[in-house]
Amino acid sequence: MAKNTTYVEFKNVTKIYNKTKIPAVSDINLTIPQGAFCCLIGTSGSGKTTLMRMINRMNPITKGSVYLNGQNVKQLNPVNLRRHIGYVIQNNGLMPHMTIKDNITIVPKLLKWPAAKIEHKVQELIELAEFPEEFLNRYPAELSGGQQQRVGVIRALAADQDLILMDEPFGALDPITRETLQEFVKKLQSKLGKTIIFVTHDMDEALKLATQIVIMHEGKIIQVGTPDDILHHPANKFVEDLLGEDRLEEARHDTVKVGEIMLTNPVKINIGATLTEALTLMKKRHVDTLLVTDDAQHLKGYISVGKLDKRYRHVNSVSDILDTNIATLHPDSYLRDYASKILQGNMTYVPVVDHHQKLVGIVTRSALVNLVYDTIWGHDTNEQEGDESHE
Ligand code: ADP
Ligand code: MG
Repeated sequence: MAKNTTYVEFKNVTKIYNKTKIPAVSDINLTIPQGAFCCLIGTSGSGKTTLMRMINRMNPITKGSVYLNGQNVKQLNPVNLRRHIGYVIQNNGLMPHMTIKDNITIVPKLLKWPAAKIEHKVQELIELAEFPEEFLNRYPAELSGGQQQRVGVIRALAADQDLILMDEPFGALDPITRETLQEFVKKLQSKLGKTIIFVTHDMDEALKLATQIVIMHEGKIIQVGTPDDILHHPANKFVEDLLGEDRLEEARHDTVKVGEIMLTNPVKINIGATLTEALTLMKKRHVDTLLVTDDAQHLKGYISVGKLDKRYRHVNSVSDILDTNIATLHPDSYLRDYASKILQGNMTYVPVVDHHQKLVGIVTRSALVNLVYDTIWGHDTNEQEGDESHE
């Protein structure tokens, strides 16, 4: 399956419901790639459900065209079209008087699959859902809400549908169950290569699941982008408000680069220096390691007071006790990719080198403290009062 192949495309799509004059969605242009996890998010009534239901023609299209895998859906048989697109809604839509097995196999039976093929599929699906075999003979009411919704999801895959539409599928579940199901659909999407279009009003859910986020408001698309795009380049105030100050703040920290917080005067010594000179410098600057550079400031490694002490009687040059095994950072690297490694490691600092391996600075653990503090506690420094009263 080629990446970036268009799978669903809206071209100038407008929907006007009977008796209304205001379009529910107006002049929508949108391309959803094959294998995407596309989250539609926006205010209530912004047209998310309407947009989604035009793909499987549950809602007739007023103007414009929707293409599915290159075919105009208007030219496809609507019943057949619907059977080939999975659909999951909030309250699972399971038939209460039918067993789980009968619920799952509705569409394959409608498609007249041979019995053996259906049986094989059922086995595959319950394994996928990690359900015990005996669930198949239960009725929906005999499962928990989360389990029912999991059945809703596998039912949407039962006829090998490549596209699954999900309309706020986990909105009614408690946070822990919701998280389990989020991981489940994410796994399905990446492992089985399904294209998923997922309506939600939960920004965390969208940021976590989506490869493509579509932000809607009053029948229009406000912004389309990856979670990263949306977080770091919100198109306008509306998107910013939807994200909220906390997420924006966190995103700003995400973009801090090594070069912005490094100290530019690391304590260093030339590779040709003597151990006496090294020890004198350590004493003077109150440090127990020194970075070692050559005449052109290229970083060669480091020396530590421990090794210096042990070898002092046997050798006399910095180069004799040089440790060359040293991790470095680059000034243009994002700190977020390294911060936890630095904080968890036992280095008190990490040297920063440019493209020519020249030493340009160091990032200290203490420089990271502010960043961690702001991320955890926010920017409000007026809250110190009472902090010390904790016992
Ligand atoms: P969302 O899913 O984003 O909450 P909808 O797509 O359900 O929004 O609704 C978009 C707009 O279309 C709303 O103004 C809604 O009232 C209207 N609408 C939705 N369904 C119908 C319908 N069957 N008949 C008339 N208007 C509708
Ligand atoms: Mg809706």
